[in-house]
Amino acid sequence: MFFGWFKLHLKPIFPSEGSNLQPILVGRATAEAYARWRMNLLYRLLTPPLHDPRKHSLKLNIPKVVLRIVLICESLGLTVSAGDSAKGDPPSSSRETKPPPRAKKRRFAPIKIANQIPMRRRKEIEKALGEVGGSPTKWSRNGGTKNHVFMRKRIKPGTIRHMEFNLLDVEIGESWPVPISVIHGSRPGPVVTLLGAIHGDELVGPLALTYLCGPNFMGSDRVIDAGVLAGTIRIVPIVNLPGYRRMIRDFPDGRDLNRCFPGKPDSNTTSRVAHKLWSNLISTSDYVVDLHSAAKGRTNIPQIRANLAHASSNRIARSFGIETILDSEGPRGSLRRVANQEDIACITYEGGGSDEADPESVQISMYGIINLLRSLRMLPGYPSKPRFRILASGSVWIRSDQGGLLDVLAPAGSFVEEGEIVATITDPELPGVQHDVVSPIRGLLISSATHPFVNSGSPIGHLLPVKRGVTTLKKRLDDEGCLIISGSDGEPPWREDEEIEDIAVFGEWSGGSPDAEWGPAGSTDEEEDN
Ligand SMILES: [Zn+2]
Repeated sequence: MFFGWFKLHLKPIFPSEGSNLQPILVGRATAEAYARWRMNLLYRLLTPPLHDPRKHSLKLNIPKVVLRIVLICESLGLTVSAGDSAKGDPPSSSRETKPPPRAKKRRFAPIKIANQIPMRRRKEIEKALGEVGGSPTKWSRNGGTKNHVFMRKRIKPGTIRHMEFNLLDVEIGESWPVPISVIHGSRPGPVVTLLGAIHGDELVGPLALTYLCGPNFMGSDRVIDAGVLAGTIRIVPIVNLPGYRRMIRDFPDGRDLNRCFPGKPDSNTTSRVAHKLWSNLISTSDYVVDLHSAAKGRTNIPQIRANLAHASSNRIARSFGIETILDSEGPRGSLRRVANQEDIACITYEGGGSDEADPESVQISMYGIINLLRSLRMLPGYPSKPRFRILASGSVWIRSDQGGLLDVLAPAGSFVEEGEIVATITDPELPGVQHDVVSPIRGLLISSATHPFVNSGSPIGHLLPVKRGVTTLKKRLDDEGCLIISGSDGEPPWREDEEIEDIAVFGEWSGGSPDAEWGPAGSTDEEEDN
């Protein structure tokens, strides 16, 4: 009976043998979602009729009908495969057969907040997210695109300019000119500033930004094409050029630039540099991404740090597309904290350690920046999203109870069980004696020591205690039990926000900030990598 009806009513859209239903069927869905969808339909096919009996209507749901056809085709032995299109971007053939539009409610759904972030903090974040307005009118296409003015230079729409920015205004002596690339899109949109090496010995940022400015990523028909870009991207691969040349974190006067914002024009050297950067580069930005690595003696897994109660920072933190997000305001005088106080969105990316070029951290930062620009609709294409996000507001430290030389068994990125041996300590002055360092709790190691010399009390690892979402997290571990971070193993499939599991890690940052415990003796609670 069913087939009789089917032939009568649906003959025009019944696929002939060899026809390709792929774009209609799959669109941007993942293979996993497709399989789920198909199982659901198979169930429905075997149970209720095509129309909804409660409504007493025979109005047909055409997409579902088409899917039923697929199921029938499959049962008849005809091949209808999800194929390559299940991997992410819509297939090019979608021009001929339009993919189904995304459900509207999803696009405007509020951002989820992991439900075990402390209530006080959760309310702050929810309040901030509730106050988000629409896009400023200056980004509207109606006004047309104007020249971008930077350092008294006019940059025409659709062009790229490489120029130098003097950190100091002097007539004689060193002015410390740093290279800056300005990509001014042919369409209006936000101004995004990307910064590397505010700390001169952190090389992941300079490498990632240099690659992004290179011919493989920037130029006509490349990912960053000024001809199709909406808005403006300003890239400074090395902010602290004098520190970089000396292979040191700070400025030559011994100060940390990332504690001196917004700076003063008549104060010390680093404060003057901060003021010049602030007034020319940061205050005129809508979004800022600041790339960092761990300070000496430790390494970080790729992670984002952001004040999640600052709405636009919260959005770009998530849009970066990686798993670990630490909710922290940033130390006093840091770019992130001061920018947020002026309502400029700013996030910090942390990856790898200083004086090293961890290739995975470089790759993930480039992936995240492209994701962020796509999420802001400045670049065409769909941003990728991780399977889950860990939103952390606190952590646990693993410390050594002995002195000696450290051998780390579980590197940063490892998912460790309570009681698991994460490192051993031996003493060259007492050969043959070994002490084990065990994890006090189950969780994800986001940072670990790389310097082997330890005393009793030295921090060895920084752990996010994971109580929920363990099964989800374990699915993304490699053979050695390390988290495979989104963006490190190729482009992840398309995902809606609803499909992302938020895993909350609640508590407090010991010492007031994520890295406080790494600080040397006598350091304040402002000690932090970034
Ligand atoms: Zn740093």
